[in-house]
Amino acid sequence: MKPTFYITTPIYYVNDKPHIGHSYTSIACDVLARFKRLTGYQVYFLTGTDEHGQKVAQAAKAQNQEPQALVDLNVQTYQNLWTALEISNDDFIRTTELRHKEVVQAMFAELYKKGDIYPGQYEGWYCVPCETFWLESQSEKGLCPDCGRALEKVSEKTYFFKMSKYEKPLLEYLEKHPDFVHPHGRYNEIMSLVKGGLKDLSVSRSKARISWGIPCPFDPDQVIYVWFDALINYVSALGYKKHQDLFNRFWPADVQMIGKDILKFHAVIWPTMLLALEVSLPQKIVAHGWWTVAGQKMSKSKGNVVDPYAIIAKVGVDAYRYFLLREAPFGLDGDFSEAALIVRYQADLANNLGNLVNRTLTMLEKYFAGVVPQVDFVPHVEKFKKLVTGLLPAIERKLAAAAFSQALESIWSLIDQANKYIEEEAPWKLAKSDPARLAGVLYTLVDVLRVAAVYIYPFMPGSALKIWEQLGLTESLPAANLNTVTLGQFPPGTKVQKGVPLFPKLV
Ligand SMILES: [Zn+2]
Repeated sequence: MKPTFYITTPIYYVNDKPHIGHSYTSIACDVLARFKRLTGYQVYFLTGTDEHGQKVAQAAKAQNQEPQALVDLNVQTYQNLWTALEISNDDFIRTTELRHKEVVQAMFAELYKKGDIYPGQYEGWYCVPCETFWLESQSEKGLCPDCGRALEKVSEKTYFFKMSKYEKPLLEYLEKHPDFVHPHGRYNEIMSLVKGGLKDLSVSRSKARISWGIPCPFDPDQVIYVWFDALINYVSALGYKKHQDLFNRFWPADVQMIGKDILKFHAVIWPTMLLALEVSLPQKIVAHGWWTVAGQKMSKSKGNVVDPYAIIAKVGVDAYRYFLLREAPFGLDGDFSEAALIVRYQADLANNLGNLVNRTLTMLEKYFAGVVPQVDFVPHVEKFKKLVTGLLPAIERKLAAAAFSQALESIWSLIDQANKYIEEEAPWKLAKSDPARLAGVLYTLVDVLRVAAVYIYPFMPGSALKIWEQLGLTESLPAANLNTVTLGQFPPGTKVQKGVPLFPKLV
């Protein structure tokens, strides 16, 4: 039985237009999923869309459509983008699917039976656009703390989730699991938030106010609150209470990746729901930072929202994936600028990786008619061996800490070393003076490129496959296992096929 790895993105709000931020989370998860598959894990990679709530109902009404018709249309913008970005998710869950709604209702009913969901009267302030209830103390001058718009005073029946009951258990859990929230600064935020006390949470809305949601299973006048509904996707996708084999195999999730703005939902509300249901908590919640654009916050009104398709059209999918993960430390905010993207493209991709592939294959064609020679002596291979041996543990450690940029640095140290090796050995001189050594040098170079391609694959799958193909390798790259990939395995006699440059000059 293979070890398992379950990773989730948040489910994205179906009415939003996917931008750089959404793609950042999905790409990061994709890299982890692909890396785990390459190290022998059985992976379940989940993404999806959050499709209920008042904003969907309002947008549908404005377009004279049924909410379901609107979400059926909008969900495609996400699905198409994930295809374009080569996101390798194993499942895509939509909260309007029956398999999800059934689980939400079953959980809601179970908590009600247990007394952890109970009826009460809600009085408070409500922001319609944000679909959020606020306490009087949270609001300034009757305005929404999030969007600044006027709040409505509301008094109505609701069901509460007894979150206060799980304050102590959650605190104990957090104390025992200092890695539960990553990065550690965010863990500290959550700790102080929980220490400050947890209040019971209103988890249903009157159907008269919000009709587009999952009906409460025991009260026809109530609809389940959209956040309570949405969080459950992480277990409903695994068939919680229905397909226990799948659920038992993959739950608890190994990594739940989110943006820092939804940390409280994932590191406080979600774990207390699970504690109430006596379900194990996820291993780790990883919160990443936000992207600014040329130093400014992205916003529709500024007109600076980065459209992933525009970047893909310019530099290709792989350079986009590479840039997002290489440019900024994962937990912190990053700044997107086209100038920085182009610098990375030229320095790291075109001049370094692309050039290494090109030079190596050109020399192999020139001196050995494109056939990888059989060699029994390879000069200075020890320094590569040392690098390659240390690579897997280093990258495993870095990716476990969501340090994508550092993981890429490690891979690039191998590529840098190979470029340096060409300068030191000067194959064009060896061609005249020492053909045996030349054969050894070129063998080492294709061998290093083979190993590098496997490591690059999780980050830039398309480019890795192109390198693989140009090297003339016929075994399946996605089926490779990094635990056994090492130097000296390049089959002699392989005919390489130099292709077009991997990272062509930008126009
Ligand atoms: Zn608001």
